Amino acid sequence: MRLAGRVNALPRDRARRYNEPMLELRPNCECCDADLPADSLEARICTFECTFCRPCADQRFSGLCPNCGGELVRRPVRPLARLAKYPASVRRVTRAHAACA
Ligand SMILES: [Zn+2]
Ligand SMILES: [Zn+2]
Repeated sequence: MRLAGRVNALPRDRARRYNEPMLELRPNCECCDADLPADSLEARICTFECTFCRPCADQRFSGLCPNCGGELVRRPVRPLARLAKYPASVRRVTRAHAACA
């Protein structure tokens, strides 16, 4: 319906902002390689988007990113309606950390 579309439309400045880089929403924990789908509430990220599952973030790393030392916080869920146009990354990233062994 036309009216509904208008209500849901982003203001122009917000729409422009969406052309800028956004969260990759990586598909896995870089330590244990657990799947972390875009709608997962278990994903934890730092400001550099190092991405971990909740058990690794909490138990292995005590809430601090092993790469940069920054906070690991819950990754926000991108609204389903936006995922179609701004899909999550499919590039799996894994790295060896001492605590992953
Ligand atoms: Zn993990
Ligand atoms: Zn980090």
